[in-house]
Amino acid sequence: MSTAFRGGPAEPAHASAGREPVLEIRDLTVAYGAGADAVTAVHGVDLTLHRGEVLGLAGESGSGKSTLVYGATRLLPPPGVVAGGQVLYHRRGEEPIDVLRLSDAELRAFRWNEASVVFQGAMNSLNPVERVLGQFDDALRAHRPGSTRAERRQRAADLLRLVGINPERLSSYPHQLSGGMRQRVMIAMALALEPDVVVMDEPTTALDVVMQRHILRQLRSLRDRFGFAVVFVTHDLSLLVEFADRIAVMYGGRLVEQADARDLYLTPRHPYSHGLLNSFPSLRGEVRELTGIPGSPPDLRRPPSGCVLHPRCAHAMKVCAAHRPPLATAPVDAGRDREVACWLHHPTAAAPAHLVSGPATTGPALPTAQTTDGVS
Ligand code: ATP
Ligand code: SF4
Repeated sequence: MSTAFRGGPAEPAHASAGREPVLEIRDLTVAYGAGADAVTAVHGVDLTLHRGEVLGLAGESGSGKSTLVYGATRLLPPPGVVAGGQVLYHRRGEEPIDVLRLSDAELRAFRWNEASVVFQGAMNSLNPVERVLGQFDDALRAHRPGSTRAERRQRAADLLRLVGINPERLSSYPHQLSGGMRQRVMIAMALALEPDVVVMDEPTTALDVVMQRHILRQLRSLRDRFGFAVVFVTHDLSLLVEFADRIAVMYGGRLVEQADARDLYLTPRHPYSHGLLNSFPSLRGEVRELTGIPGSPPDLRRPPSGCVLHPRCAHAMKVCAAHRPPLATAPVDAGRDREVACWLHHPTAAAPAHLVSGPATTGPALPTAQTTDGVS
């Protein structure tokens, strides 16, 4: 066995996937530009990733998902700037460190070793003129300078095997691999140094749905084996319903709901989560009409007042345009790990007349349950 790499499965994920945080995003605000022209794309987001969990981050294009994860991992390209907040990374048995305060050298060590990121369209970011082995070798040599060439080759072969690719493919060029294989190579590279956190930004959108699900199934079984936590970013909530443990939904740069994946699927509380669930067909669920969400995402240079969704929301009340609903646990969810930012579910919503004194809700009643088909 290689001396430079730990190798071998870690403690099974589920044994450690309790409520131990590995990454805590606190009150993170991210803007593009500065001064009067600045656009705030992420507003004071709080989000905790627990050890060994798959956390799905969903929302339409422009809702701020990528800005949030790149801000939190300090990979935000200019003119993006983190305007406030903390990102606490918990090493086992140590005090948490704030990723936003790491020096450049500390940040280099943090990336790949402790948190790796697979970017949007990453399968096209393999170097087209270098064989797969060379690409692994570059990454491994940079982070394990004491390793030998033979150890790195062995490690690269092990990693390819992990993602179901024959190690003979180490001598292939990227163009000789299918899209799905290139994507699995990228996932293998992200796992190369056994990080605790893997962030994936829409890694499978260029693939057909069958291949997407195949890769996600493989990712989950790798997670079960090695115990890393995953933040999986996608606009396709139906994918997350099948593969994530917990789901956070973003709209207009804010978190609007977060819940256990099954709870979110069975009883979406926020009208936006409900609309997103109705925007994608489920591969195995019942055939149903897709209604989606009418209207377009907000212009973040001039966001709507109050609840950012109110111009598109069939349930909007007078209070919605005037006051922004805080993310809070609804009375009906007391004791559960679930939060929603909507006046319909706010702890005070049941009683106070001032919350419902405007035009009554006009849309149909919010559904409270759907079929369980399609949840794995
Ligand atoms: P997508 O799935 O399309 O990547 P997303 O949910 O990840 O969408 P972001 O890419 O984070 O959303 O973008 C959030 C918002 O930030 C956008 O609506 C846009 O207004 C703003 N934004 C993103 N990049 C820039 C930029 N370079 N300059 C100015 N504004 C930007
Ligand atoms: Fe709709 Fe009002 Fe809830 Fe916003 S707060 S989602 S506008 S009901």
